[in-house]
Amino acid sequence: MIIKEHVNLKPRNTFGIEARCRYWIECDDEGQLLDLLASRPWRGQETFVLGGGSNVLFTADFPGVIFHPAMKEREIASETATEVFLRVGAGVPWDDVVRWAVERGYGGIENLSMVPGSVGATPVQNIGAYGAEIGERIARVEAIDVERGVKRVISGEECRFGYRDSLFKGEWKDRFIITRVTYRLSKTPRFHLDYRGVREEVERTGEPSLASIRQAIIRLREARLPDVKALPNAGSFFKNPVVERSIAERLSALFPAMPSYPAGEGNVKLAAGWLIEQAGWKGRAIGEAAVHDKQALVLVNKGGATGSEIARLANEIKKSVFMNFGVWIEPEVNIL
Ligand SMILES: Cc1cc2nc3c(=O)[nH]c(=O)nc-3n(C[C@H](O)[C@H](O)[C@H](O)COP(=O)(O)OP(=O)(O)OC[C@H]3O[C@@H](n4cnc5c(N)ncnc54)[C@H](O)[C@@H]3O)c2cc1C
Repeated sequence: MIIKEHVNLKPRNTFGIEARCRYWIECDDEGQLLDLLASRPWRGQETFVLGGGSNVLFTADFPGVIFHPAMKEREIASETATEVFLRVGAGVPWDDVVRWAVERGYGGIENLSMVPGSVGATPVQNIGAYGAEIGERIARVEAIDVERGVKRVISGEECRFGYRDSLFKGEWKDRFIITRVTYRLSKTPRFHLDYRGVREEVERTGEPSLASIRQAIIRLREARLPDVKALPNAGSFFKNPVVERSIAERLSALFPAMPSYPAGEGNVKLAAGWLIEQAGWKGRAIGEAAVHDKQALVLVNKGGATGSEIARLANEIKKSVFMNFGVWIEPEVNIL
């Protein structure tokens, strides 16, 4: 276990924001973490769990304790004739899991290739991309209850996964340190090629396979998203808003080119990027905080932007989208 004070978080968030935390606790051993929680030396202070920092925005120094789970093991916990249950430590980079599965012919997560971040965050965010969501593949989550100082094993169903959402973001916010996640992978994968552009990109290089889908998705992502090393960002800053069908129909009548997608039970998902672009924000900046000039859903740090500058830009965008379309968009990024 590593315990440090006044740690610089700039290298630990993909927005590249200058911020420090009071205490930093990095741990790869559940037992040690439970012992530490029993004594709670930080009583009364705020706590936060940070993985790869690819979905957070620090708007100030963090005055409390940051936990950084670093469990790195990976094992096949069990298998059946058709499925493999892969148990992975929270500190493993998510894309390493996808690469490992694809190389062995295990399917179900290939469309989530190259989503940044660590395994521990995957159930929190219910990461999704190119028609897949990880919630469909999570069998169980092992976590430590910070308040009670005990270990819990939580089933996938209990996590109540929704669009970029789970109980870890709602009722259970900041309550658990996730230490391991078990994914249910398929030995007889069915390919999902129907999401925009995937089939065409796969077919450019040959027959669909887990490997060709992974490569196609990597190429699509590289073409559409700015590289965090060149232009620090946290991916999609806003979630796509889900509205009642009647609202979507009224907007479609006014804006016939507006993209919309069925979202179950009389709801429709709108494209936040399109709304932001139509409101005139693509490429605009406030100081060093800017809207990416190729993808309006992504906010970028052009250099020395502060977290507050990015949050202010996000707030202006949110108000402007509401003024133009009567729809509130909410951040996907965790603002601290
Ligand atoms: C260029 C780019 C592209 C992206 N594309 C996508 C995409 O296609 N789809 C998508 O869904 N996301 C995308 N994201 C967002 C991001 O990759 C995911 O949200 C990812 O799951 C965050 O992982 P992380 O380890 O960096 O989490 P962090 O940013 O460190 O944390 C995110 C949240 O999870 C919590 N958390 C992290 N680890 C744990 C843990 N072990 N226990 C408890 N809570 C924890 C944190 O407290 C926080 O609330 C993208 C980001 C970038 C920068």
